[in-house]
Amino acid sequence: METPKKHLKLAALAAISAIVLSACGGPQEATTTDTPEPEKFANVTDERLLNADQTPEEWLSYGGTYDEQRHSLLTSISAENVGDLGVAWTYDLATSRGVESTPIVVDGVMYVTSAWSVVYALDAKTGAEIWVHDPDVDRAVGVNACCDVVNRGVAVYEGKLFLGVIDGRVQALDAKTGEVIWSKVTVDQSRPYTITGAPRVVDGKVLIGNGGAELGVRGYVSAYDVNTGETVWRFYTVPNPNKEPDGAASDAAFEQVGNVTWGEEGEWKDAGGGGTVWDSIIYDEANDSVIFGVGNGSPWNQTFRDPSGKDNLFLSSIVAVDADTGAYKWHFQTTPGDNWDYTATQTLILANLPLGEGGADRRVVMQAPKNGYFYVIDAATGEFIKGAGYVPQNWTTGLTAEGRPIEVPEARYAEIPYLQTPGPLGGHNWHPMAFNPDVGLAYIPAQEIPQAYAEDPRFQENSTKWNTGADFAAEVPPIIPSEVFKFLRSGLKGRLIAWDPVANEARWTVEHEGPWNGGVLSTAGGVVFQGKLNGEFAAYNAATGEELWVHDVKSGAASGPGTFAIDGEQYVTITTGWGSAYLLSAGGVAAPQAVPPSVGKVVTFKLGGDQVIADIDVPLVDRTPKTEEFGNEAQLAEGLVQYARNCTVCHGPFAVGAGVLPDLRWSSYASSPEAWKGVVADGNLQSIGMVSFADVLSEDEIESIRAYVVQQAHNSEGIDAAISDETP
Ligand code: CA
Repeated sequence: METPKKHLKLAALAAISAIVLSACGGPQEATTTDTPEPEKFANVTDERLLNADQTPEEWLSYGGTYDEQRHSLLTSISAENVGDLGVAWTYDLATSRGVESTPIVVDGVMYVTSAWSVVYALDAKTGAEIWVHDPDVDRAVGVNACCDVVNRGVAVYEGKLFLGVIDGRVQALDAKTGEVIWSKVTVDQSRPYTITGAPRVVDGKVLIGNGGAELGVRGYVSAYDVNTGETVWRFYTVPNPNKEPDGAASDAAFEQVGNVTWGEEGEWKDAGGGGTVWDSIIYDEANDSVIFGVGNGSPWNQTFRDPSGKDNLFLSSIVAVDADTGAYKWHFQTTPGDNWDYTATQTLILANLPLGEGGADRRVVMQAPKNGYFYVIDAATGEFIKGAGYVPQNWTTGLTAEGRPIEVPEARYAEIPYLQTPGPLGGHNWHPMAFNPDVGLAYIPAQEIPQAYAEDPRFQENSTKWNTGADFAAEVPPIIPSEVFKFLRSGLKGRLIAWDPVANEARWTVEHEGPWNGGVLSTAGGVVFQGKLNGEFAAYNAATGEELWVHDVKSGAASGPGTFAIDGEQYVTITTGWGSAYLLSAGGVAAPQAVPPSVGKVVTFKLGGDQVIADIDVPLVDRTPKTEEFGNEAQLAEGLVQYARNCTVCHGPFAVGAGVLPDLRWSSYASSPEAWKGVVADGNLQSIGMVSFADVLSEDEIESIRAYVVQQAHNSEGIDAAISDETP
């Protein structure tokens, strides 16, 4: 294993050329040590952003262009020669946590992020390090991140780089040096807000939302002045508890359409209601609109959140506002009265499709949100045009003519669990979708991960830990683990779907070994690129889905790939790494194999590339139970419930970890009640992200969890056999 990289002290470095040759990490297998010395770093203007499709040698924003089609006009790499792709260079991101970043490439420099919101500037041709910026996040905020301490990328504009930090800050950095120009706290840091999404820049404003709806926050998206960080406008997605004006851009929207969709009682008033805008924010130049996707309700269970059962705008909606003022224009709610974590934060793509009168072009927004339906919406008005299920679903019997889901009554779960698909990880999650206008296909990284939803009989509002009102213990009976494993795993599926939004149906589908496969890149060379959870990065024929090339990247390949060209040579790049929501929450139960600890990387390919992705020496974990089993039946049952409620989402169901965070079965802390309590109650490991649970767990409950974890350690032979039985 490589020694941890030391971060550069930028102030001490006078010249960029001196930095790339320093001993502090740097590239592996770079083919050259040439240094880029562009006239300006990130010299990105509005003009360049508006015409980004005409400069495909660069990748100027998260989705490539304002339309966010992730479709590049580069054609050097084509369906005919993609088989000759090989590794040009790799770069270590110095983290074993989740990596979800799409690299920005501009003026010869690549800007890429990794876990804990660390930013790297690299020579895009060689991978040589130019600078590293670590915002020094207090590791204790990690417990607020529902889905690992990930970051999906940065925005660049007029020599600056904009970064959303996991603790809720937005920072503007000097793109040349990485030095902080301004830093602004954009959230109430006493609440469990996080930022994992990539900022966008439109006309001198940097746009960012936040996350935290699993734990209890009130969502919003804001526009800040790129030069000062001053707030230009803010749009809340949920009314304030008194339904009074906030003095924000959203006030009129709540007065006109939002307030009446919320009841007068319910946990939303304390929990904040949710509706976080944690991923997709796009700019529609044709209508001068900012269009964003809104997340789930908080708590999930509407019975607790708002017993009135109303629609709860703008949860699970696509919302359009005026780009200059944030004033409301229209909304389309994909899941009225969300009850299942059915976010509409997934990739939003703008396109002109022949859906107007007489087949004329019509400007549309497309999305495949978690709820299983693919939507085509008018970009000017929000009018529903088309929609159809892109994965199997059993929560509705279809859509009305206005696009409203027709629910089955059982889906409004209560004490009786309802085994539903999609589950809370969705038919599609954050993995970026792409659209190829040449063949008229949207490429969806789709999946089937069913979940039994049941009302949590012990629900109580608390604002610091997972808090959904749905019972995670309902689906983890402590009996016959191997049968339960086989049942759970048999329902897990993943596929790449080429969706024809005009015909409203799939044109072709590639089945993968399991869910949680990567984001998609489309190119005018007729190639679709996608990484997979099994560590492969693959290329498919854009028109047929035929697999053209595959390369083992030796780690998770979930991020959105990108492409760029330097000196006339085209490159394809992807960030790799384990972690993120699926591997944490589904744990070793659903991992494609025992996930080895690995270092996240940037892996960049070119035709004829001949470099090798380094193997990692993995220290073996001592898999022996550290103590004798203890506890009576009641204590073990209590331990199961408390584990499921408080520990599952990070350490995995059945206490089977996926390898990203510690597998508690083998932890030496489990061997003594004092050591265990020291961590769980006293917060002895807070510095690495394990905060105290003393505010939600009693000492008896903490000890019951230890009894359950020790029991699972002794039970591990059967569990591991069940897992390896099913491993492809
Ligand atoms: Ca959520």
